[in-house]
Amino acid sequence: HAKSDGRNSFRFFSPTMQAQSSRALQLTNALRRALEREQFTLHYQPQFDLATGVVCGAEALLRWQHPELGAISPAEFIPVAEDSGQIVAIGDWVLRNALAQLARWRAQGLTQLTLAVNLSAVQFRHPPLAELIERLLAEHQLPADRLELELTENVAVADARAAAQIMDRMHGQGVRLAVDDFGTGYSSLSQLKRFQIFRLKIDQSFVRDLDHDGNDRAIVSAIVRMAQALGMRTTAEGVETAEQLAYLREQGCDEAQGYHFARPMPAQDFERFVRQRAAA
Ligand code: C2E
Ligand code: MG
Ligand code: MG
Ligand code: MG
Repeated sequence: HAKSDGRNSFRFFSPTMQAQSSRALQLTNALRRALEREQFTLHYQPQFDLATGVVCGAEALLRWQHPELGAISPAEFIPVAEDSGQIVAIGDWVLRNALAQLARWRAQGLTQLTLAVNLSAVQFRHPPLAELIERLLAEHQLPADRLELELTENVAVADARAAAQIMDRMHGQGVRLAVDDFGTGYSSLSQLKRFQIFRLKIDQSFVRDLDHDGNDRAIVSAIVRMAQALGMRTTAEGVETAEQLAYLREQGCDEAQGYHFARPMPAQDFERFVRQRAAA
């Protein structure tokens, strides 16, 4: 939709569109205070190595609890924060907190973990991003290859040159780049080739119907094979059943996350989860 929505196009607001935009306005105003009032937390979803069954990492996922509006999904408030520019400050908070958490886990002996952090295209148009990441890695003495930045394909489309500069710089530091929701965005395979991508995350829309949709099976199989040929790793998102897992394993997918294994959870629960798995 963003593509066809030209800047000069006329807009006629229907009642539902008005309702949507007043909700967006309400969220924008509420977001303005969310950071200072400490309404954000991070949850962590375990990521599993399919060859060994070991928890090899965590994806940090933002949670917003508002006193009156309740829990608001990132799928709803992240786009609002992107439109208002608030995602830059929120994204900084996410990086600071997630990397501090990774450092605590490492201090407790959980050194095998990688940490994945989601980034918006808007953050790439804000140059201090690379400096912030480098500063945080140094401050916490974290090996750069324990951090994975999850970008959607649209990052490369929105501002290709600025994004490429930051991605090259991050790659040069040893930070890993992952393409999130792979297969659903606007990017082309030639763009993919230009960036130093470490991992493709197979979007959950291809995983959901694996059991009965031959097209999805073909797509997943093709993504895994292409990634292997290009020297990239694959992670399947949204794995909910043993059957989906069996197919992904058979195809040679490297890693997976999803409700079949575990839901996103607070940091302390995650720690306990990893220790219990290791003991079992
Ligand atoms: P994503 O990065 O693709 O994250 C995966 C989403 O799938 C998460 O939703 C996760 O809770 C959910 N999920 C995990 N396993 C399953 C499963 O087995 N089945 C189903 N149906 N869903 C599963 P969540 O946490 O609501 O986040 C939604 C999106 O919001 C994320 O998609 C990401 O694009 C964005 N987001 C979340 N946190 C951040 C953040 O800190 N920064 C930015 N820029 N975006 C974020
Ligand atoms: Mg993600
Ligand atoms: Mg995804
Ligand atoms: Mg997504």
